[in-house]
Amino acid sequence: MSVLRRMMRVSNRSLLAFIFFFSLSSSCLYFIYVAPGIANTYLFMVQARGIMLRENVKTIGHMIRLYTNKNTTLNGTDYPEGNNSSDYLVQTTTYLPENFTYSPYLPCPEKLPYMRGFLNVNVSEVSFDEIRQLFSKDLDIEPGGHWRPKDCKPRWKVAVLIPFRNRHEHLPIFFLHLIPMLQKQRLEFAFYVIEQTGTQPFNRAMLFNVGFKEAMKDSVWDCVIFHDVDHLPENDRNYYGCGEMPRHFAAKLDKYMYILPYKEFFGGVSGLTVEQFRRINGFPNAFWGWGGEDDDLWNRVHYAGYNVTRPEGDLGKYKSIPHHHRGEVQFLGRYKLLRYSKERQYIDGLNNLIYTPKILVDRLYTNISVNLMPELAPIEDY
Ligand code: UDP
Ligand code: MN
Repeated sequence: MSVLRRMMRVSNRSLLAFIFFFSLSSSCLYFIYVAPGIANTYLFMVQARGIMLRENVKTIGHMIRLYTNKNTTLNGTDYPEGNNSSDYLVQTTTYLPENFTYSPYLPCPEKLPYMRGFLNVNVSEVSFDEIRQLFSKDLDIEPGGHWRPKDCKPRWKVAVLIPFRNRHEHLPIFFLHLIPMLQKQRLEFAFYVIEQTGTQPFNRAMLFNVGFKEAMKDSVWDCVIFHDVDHLPENDRNYYGCGEMPRHFAAKLDKYMYILPYKEFFGGVSGLTVEQFRRINGFPNAFWGWGGEDDDLWNRVHYAGYNVTRPEGDLGKYKSIPHHHRGEVQFLGRYKLLRYSKERQYIDGLNNLIYTPKILVDRLYTNISVNLMPELAPIEDY
């Protein structure tokens, strides 16, 4: 009898120990897999304080140099190389006056009078019906959200690609802000929402590759913007055209305290000409889950000899629509893939992509839904 009791005691204790270690390890796993956003944001907050301090010292140094009249030349509309906090820079080029007259035969200017600067960004929920109703008055918007200016020749034909799954409340807020801004910028544009179906982890990069191929079948675009659905520009002078170099638009995010988290950050909103994107073989397809695909694109762009440009000062500010990571997983394999960015760029991208899309043309955007699976981007010889 006493032997049995002793055995019971031991098993009780080990049961308790088991429960303790089980709950400990599952909470650890929760933080590793399910809440990558939270963990990364907290890590960033800690680093941000250090960055802010250093930037303040740099700013003071720069002010002193300006005051002593050395090094006063500033570069047009962009960041000086390596500078992160350029709030103190003066806008050197001016915007056109209200009475400016357009010509349908001339290219639209980049700095138009309607572009007044700070936008009133409201992230509160709005329904799709309200948005459709609002834009139904604008008869110039063609199916797929295709719009082109009539009073001048658009400088860029821009395809805006939005990777998407289960963020239905974000889409109407996104269109409410983006359509008027791009119209003010006198760009030709349309929206492509690439929706991932199926049960695989989310693959933002592969969705962009699919969106790129489908957009190019649809129309003759020369500039492609890769846009997260939850990012809203706070300044309409953040011009969504492309350039000689790939561009990173989302330089200052509210969720990162308006600081560029690291020099190589290329996430949120970026833009490449069709030629630039083809040259780097597009995005990688092998990043399943959260993280890393934007860093890989940065590597590709630099291996091709490009440098990334960013909007000057406060022009690159964005507000993000708050969201939860609903059961999304972090992609832990990203570090290994990033080590081989250089070798992988030729074998994984636009050139190994196979997919079967379902296309639905809405009034405000084209919906491309695809069931992505790893087998759809086979990699040979690796
Ligand atoms: N996304 C989506 N559904 C998801 C995950 C991501 O639509 O379940 C899209 C959406 O456009 C989002 C982008 O991918 O803005 C980036 O993902 P997320 O917002 O989760 O990344 P984070 O803001 O944490 O960097
Ligand atoms: Mn987000």
